[in-house]
Amino acid sequence: MNRDLVTFLHERLDEEADLARRCDGDGCGKWTAQGHTVDFCQGELAGFHPTIALHVALHDPARVLREVEAKQRVLARHEFSPAIGDPELPWDNRDDCQYDGEPWPCDDLLDLALPYADHPDYPRHP
Ligand SMILES: [Zn+2]
Repeated sequence: MNRDLVTFLHERLDEEADLARRCDGDGCGKWTAQGHTVDFCQGELAGFHPTIALHVALHDPARVLREVEAKQRVLARHEFSPAIGDPELPWDNRDDCQYDGEPWPCDDLLDLALPYADHPDYPRHP
């Protein structure tokens, strides 16, 4: 696993943002749940278990877009710093994260990737 993880994360976040936008995430309003019904702003759908309705409403497209943006900022901070040509040499002779100095990929990137562990393109450790 190397920079493939970063590419993989960008792809997943882009997919989530695209899907949220296709649900009018840029301005349809806030999804809400009331009992067995979810109000999707463009219509309501009933028949959910109340807990499921709350869970669905929690994935309001506007909130998903804010979450994706936050994760993209985290991803942008954690840049790959190769051992070869590393300006920090001779201190660290290894591939690491420019942001936190941890071995690459750092724990923050692995945590960002964890929700996608069941995705067929999920990069596995060598
Ligand atoms: Zn990092």
